[in-house]
Order: sequence, then C-alpha cells, then structure tokens
Amino acid sequence: MGTAGSIRNVKDIISSQGGEKMIVLSAMSGVTNDLVESIKLWKEGNREELGQKLKEIRQKHIAVIEELFPDKLYRTATTDRFGSLFVQLENCFLGEYSKKREAEIVTFGETFLTFIFSGFMEAEGIQNTLLNSKDFMVVDNLENPDTKIIQKLLKEILAKEKQSEIYIAQGFVCVDHSGINTLKRGGSDYTATIIAAAIEAREVQIWTDIDGFHNNDPRYVEGTSAISHLTFEEAAELAYFGAKILHPQTVSPVKEKGIPIYLKNTFTPNAVGTKISSEVQSTGLKAISAKDGITAIRIKSNRMLMAHGFLKKIFEVFDKHETAIDMITTSEIAISLTIDDTTKLEEIREELDQYGEITVDRDHSIICVVGEGLINDKNAFRIFELLNAIQVRMISYGGSNNNISLLVDTSTKVETLRLLNNKLFREQPITA
Ligand code: ASP
Ligand code: MG
Repeated sequence: MGTAGSIRNVKDIISSQGGEKMIVLSAMSGVTNDLVESIKLWKEGNREELGQKLKEIRQKHIAVIEELFPDKLYRTATTDRFGSLFVQLENCFLGEYSKKREAEIVTFGETFLTFIFSGFMEAEGIQNTLLNSKDFMVVDNLENPDTKIIQKLLKEILAKEKQSEIYIAQGFVCVDHSGINTLKRGGSDYTATIIAAAIEAREVQIWTDIDGFHNNDPRYVEGTSAISHLTFEEAAELAYFGAKILHPQTVSPVKEKGIPIYLKNTFTPNAVGTKISSEVQSTGLKAISAKDGITAIRIKSNRMLMAHGFLKKIFEVFDKHETAIDMITTSEIAISLTIDDTTKLEEIREELDQYGEITVDRDHSIICVVGEGLINDKNAFRIFELLNAIQVRMISYGGSNNNISLLVDTSTKVETLRLLNNKLFREQPITA
C-alpha cells in the first residue's frame, strides 16, 4: 500500500468478505527501502542526512494519516500516538551501529502501517484487534519454522482478545534466540503462510498490485498472460527461480497442510488471479521464469571423477561454507554447478583447487521452464531448438518431471525468454 487511496481499497476488500480473518500487512511502499537507507547513513555517521531521511519517513506517514482521518478528534489522537511510535524509531539510532538494532529498525515500517490501518478501520466503524507479531512470531529456523510454537502462542493471545473477527498483524518481523529479526526482504508473504499454517486457516490470500503469476516475465516479454492455477511445486519453482511476485519460501508452510493460496490484485479485485494448491488441474508446460546473479563453477579432473566419493568431497566443500548449489551437470571428466550466494566463493575456490582445474563464470541466469509433468509434454522438445540461437552453458533435464532449467549468460537472458515464449506459447503447438 502506497497511498491513502490504496489503504481505503484494502479496507473495502477486507470488509466485503465475511468470517474471521488475520490481516498481515507489510510496510507502506518504499518505507522499508527508506529504513535500509537510513541505516546506511547511520553507519557512515552522516547525522545530517539521516535526520533528513527520518523526517521524510515521518512525513510520508503523517500525510496518509491526514488523508485517512477527516475527523479532527481521530486525526489528532492518531497523529499523537504515531508520534510516540516514531520516537521509538528515532531512539534506535542513538547509540553506535549494531546488527541487532539494524534488524529492529527495518521492521518499523510494518509497525507504523498496522497501527495506522487498525485505527483507520476503527474510525470507519470496523472493529478489529491489533496484534504485536513479536509476541508470537518465534522463528529460529528461517527455512523451516516451527509452526507449533507459533500456534501455541497465538492461541493464548487470541483467547484473551476474542472480541473481534478481524486481527491485524505485522509481516516481515520475527523473533529468534538473539531477539528481533526479519524473514528477509519481501517476507510478509511468508509471515502470512506461517500464520496460516499455525492457525490452520481455510485459505491464504496475498494481495499485491499484479495479476498473479504470469506465464513469462512481463518485464521483458510482451503478451504474457496470468496463470489461473499452479500446484505448490510449480509455484515454489517459479518463486525460487526469479518470478519476483512471491517470497521463495512462501508456499512451504501451507503446502504440508494443503491450505490454498490465492494471489490477487488490489486494483482488479474481481479478477481471478492465481490459485496455488495441491490439485493438478492441467499438466504440461505452464510458465517460464529467470533468476539472475548466478555463478557457474566447473571442476575438471582427469583422475578423480570416476572414483567413488569424489562428488561427496566436492559437495562437502560447499556444505562447509554454507553455500547452496542450484544446478548440477556432470561429464566424464568434469562437473559444473551453480551458486547464487558468492560470499564464500574465494574460500570455496581455494579448497576445490586440490580436486582439479577450476573455472568460474559469473553473470549467468537460470531460465526455468515449469509445469506438472512438463517433460512428458509433446512440445517440451522445442525448448532445445533454442540451442540454434543461444549459447547455453548448462541444461538440467529430468531432475524432476516438472522443471527444465537452462543456464545462459545474463546478456542473452531477454532474448532467451522471448524466444522461448514464441516457441512454447505462440507458435502452433503440436497436439497430436
Ligand atoms: N516490508 C518488507 C520489505 O519491503 C517486507 C515485505 O514487503 O514483504 O521487504
Ligand atoms: Mg511484498
């Protein structure tokens, strides 16, 4: 939500649906980025610009409050209480920079917006209860949160608060053994599915400003269309491989419990959007997405590849440096694999040296083609016609039935996406 208008819009969407619901809000558009910038200025000791930035953040919220609360009494009360919340943010910058404070600071956007939104709903006569996510979002393992703990804490809180049908909570923030933390950028989607799993919700709706998942990246390819249904696996592959619309981990908490996710557009609330569930409604090719910033590493060894235990040793190097591998291909004398986190690349490279000759290629993109049972699709082979036109560094086929991935130089990504779009969605498909 970026404006008073969109906040009103969200209020209408919520009040048009009956039943008990938990509303998870992210920060106002741009505010988390502003907070990240203010931390940078704080680190640099640039007090003057930091003061300016904080003023800007404050003003953004005040402007929205002024538009949302025409009634003077409500407006003044909200502005005053917002003022005290804002002082809490300012106080975070008082001492020296610390990592702990950083996490706390970036979560303020959610604190502010949920406070304003809850007050606005109240002023519009819609009863609601504002919760503090820090009281229950205990997440020690980011990849695999223990929703049982959250369930227990939430149950206790809701038992005390049981007067309204609408609960409002902050996305993005969590607490772990070290205190306040975050679920990483874009994490509010993930907050929603974690809570949904904890309370065993009937469904999750994720409202953004796009019409759900598209069959190709609308930033680079013309004439893409929204996909009305995806399985959890398809959505996970697409989210992980670049489609910016969902936080990559979003589907995992609800997948086990079979709770469907609906991706909806706040500007076209009646459009169907994308449903993500365990049902397989159609098989075959469904979508294409790309993930940038991929580094390929080749280990070439005449002696060792065929020896048993070789791959284990290679993987142990990556494991030791906590670096996840995305794609793998092997040949008789070499193995190629890709990573996206290069923070430990130098250490990894040094250790791999003992196993063979190492080549590192940066600036690559994984192009991921997704669909249940894709590799049995009669048209899937057309993906390989691309090899005529584009130099492909790696291909992964058969790892699962639902995915074919290609690694290309990022400079050819857009061309690859367009070519695939023409081959797979535009040209006459083979039906017999
Ligand atoms: N406000 C956070 C961010 O900008 C979380 C989210 O938007 O989902 O990353
Ligand atoms: Mg988001």
